[in-house]
Amino acid sequence: MSGPLSDRHVLVTGAARGIGAAIAQRLAADGARLTLLGRRPDALAALCQALPGSGHHWVMADVADEAQVQTAFAQARERQGLLHGLVNNAGQAESAPLHRTSSALWQQMLAVNLTGTFLCCREALPDLRAAAGLGRIVNIASTAGQRGYAYVAAYSAAKHGVVGLTRSLALELASSGVTVNAVCPGYTDTDILRESVANVVAKTGRTPEQALAEFAASNPQRRIVQPAQVADTVAWLMGEGAAAITGQCLSVSGGEVM
Ligand code: NAP
Repeated sequence: MSGPLSDRHVLVTGAARGIGAAIAQRLAADGARLTLLGRRPDALAALCQALPGSGHHWVMADVADEAQVQTAFAQARERQGLLHGLVNNAGQAESAPLHRTSSALWQQMLAVNLTGTFLCCREALPDLRAAAGLGRIVNIASTAGQRGYAYVAAYSAAKHGVVGLTRSLALELASSGVTVNAVCPGYTDTDILRESVANVVAKTGRTPEQALAEFAASNPQRRIVQPAQVADTVAWLMGEGAAAITGQCLSVSGGEVM
C-alpha cells in the first residue's frame, strides 16, 4: 500500500487492542508493513486480517521476558526483513496506595512498562541503525511519566523511567539518524481507563458516569483522549517530517502537562 510510510517495517508491541490497535490501523493506512507483537494469537491474527494493506504479520511475546522478546524479533526480521521503526506500546497500569503496594505489583509495573521497553529497544537497535536515517523509536509513556498521580506510584515510576530511557537513548543515537521520542497520553478511552473507572465505582460508590467525569476533569479540555489521537501523533513521529525531533515527550492530554 502506498503512503508516507511505504515499505517501512514497523513493529508495534501490545498491538491487539486499545491504543496499540489504533496505532497499527494508522501506520498500516500510511503504508507501513507491520509486525504486531502481543500475547493473544487470536486477537493479533484477527487484527492482522483487518488492517489496510497486506503482508502484515504477528509474533507472540511477553515484553518482560528477555528470551521471548529475542525470539519474536528474530521471527519478525525473518518474515519481513530489517525493522525501520519500533513502537513500544505494551503496558499495564495497576493502582494501589504505596503502603499497600506489594513487591510483586511494584516489580510487575517496572517489568512490563520499563524493562519491556528497554528489551525491545535493545533488540531493534542494529536494524534501526542500518535504516539510513529512517530509524524511529516511539515509546508510549503517559502523563504519569511527566507528573505524579496519587495511588499509582509504581506505574508512574515506571513511566518516568521510560521518559529517562527515551532521552538518554535519543542522545546515544542522535548521530546515527535514529530518533527516539515518547508520546504521553492523558486518560484515554481504552480497557485501562474502563478498569480504573470500575475500580473507583467499587471503592467509592460513585456511578460510572461520575467516575469518568472525574477522570475527564483532569484534562483542561475536559475530554477523554481517543486512541486515534495518540495514533496520529505516533504516525507523525514515524515520518520523515519529524527527522529533527528526538528526545521529546509529546503530551497528548489536552494541556494537562505543559
Ligand atoms: P490496554 O487496552 O489495556 O492494552 C494494553 C496492551 O498491552 C494489550 O494489547 C496487552 O496485551 C498489552 N500487554 C500488556 N502487558 C503485556 C506484556 N507483558 N507483554 C506484551 N503485551 C502486553 O491499554 P491501553 O490503554 O491501550 O495502553 C497502551 C499503552 O498506553 C500502555 O503503555 C499504557 O500505559 C499507555 N497509556 C494508556 C493510557 C490510558 O488512559 N488508556 C494513558 C496513558 C498511557 P493483551 O491483549 O495480551 O493483554
